Amino acid sequence: MSGRPYILAETNWESLKNAAFEVAVLPWGATEAHNFHLPYATDNIEADALAAEAARQAWEKGGKVVVLPTIPYGVNTGQPDIYLDINLNPSTQMSILSDVITVLNRQGIHKLVIFNSHGGNDFKPLVRELGLKFPEMFICISFWPQTMDRAKFFQEGGDHAEEMETSLLLHLRPELVLPREKWGDGSSKSFKIKAFSEGWVWAERKWSQVSADTGIGNPKYATREKGEAFFMAVSEKMGQLFLELCKADIDDLYT
Ligand SMILES: [Zn+2]
Repeated sequence: MSGRPYILAETNWESLKNAAFEVAVLPWGATEAHNFHLPYATDNIEADALAAEAARQAWEKGGKVVVLPTIPYGVNTGQPDIYLDINLNPSTQMSILSDVITVLNRQGIHKLVIFNSHGGNDFKPLVRELGLKFPEMFICISFWPQTMDRAKFFQEGGDHAEEMETSLLLHLRPELVLPREKWGDGSSKSFKIKAFSEGWVWAERKWSQVSADTGIGNPKYATREKGEAFFMAVSEKMGQLFLELCKADIDDLYT
């Protein structure tokens, strides 16, 4: 028995001493309440599983991709009063990223995908700054919930512990999902000032004032089958991206 060769945490020095990966994938989640019924590690479970399946598909087509261990804490600055939501400040994320990229850059893995699994993580300004600091690196950010038209898979919208996330967890870790009668309805409040819902002005939401059960979006139509279908669709699309990045020449990216 040996581990999957594209999952760093499962492989070994015997396999890696002469390895040469093209692309590193860094999944990044969060540790936070997900309505009443989903585990605090929901974003990490999703990131682990999706990144691994996407990497498997790319690997089997010849892509030299390696998935790094998932960073389990994310930005939860809007939830200081929600018990044991563990916040990592953006400045801490900058330090972690900078250290990880220093290793990759030194060792000649010049393509990095930050595989984001949590809406509060905002890597764009960090990646702009890191791009200046590490000019040989190509750093990109993917946010998997945006890969597909979710309306083709799910009836209800939302963005936290909703029908989509509940379906995914029913597929990935059903033993960690509380029974249906425990599920909150995920109803949430919006800003009274209309400009915020129009999207041209933004402020962080004070989560505990917006949602009573911490969810945003009703999970009631969630099923394992929907979760499996969405999981397969997202991982296939991500796997294709990983493969294309493996083959890409980062000095010749534009057409
Ligand atoms: Zn989540």
